[in-house]
Amino acid sequence: MNCQICGKKSASIKKVTKSFGRGPRLVVIEDIPVLSCSSCHESYVTADTAREIDRIRKNRTAIGKAKRVLVASFKESAA
Ligand SMILES: [Zn+2]
Repeated sequence: MNCQICGKKSASIKKVTKSFGRGPRLVVIEDIPVLSCSSCHESYVTADTAREIDRIRKNRTAIGKAKRVLVASFKESAA
């Protein structure tokens, strides 16, 4: 499919899992369609996808299913 950034036909959709927010606002969204382009090496979501992510984040308590999720914070070592 056409890349929205460089216009070449080298974009493909990858499903990714991302987390948004933190603490009580944390929500993990699976299967987000992310476009990635092998020409310009950009990866991005469409405006529709961004809107849907916003909607899910705002309604996370209604839409989300409580799952046991291990959440770790990455701590940079002082060294
Ligand atoms: Zn591109």
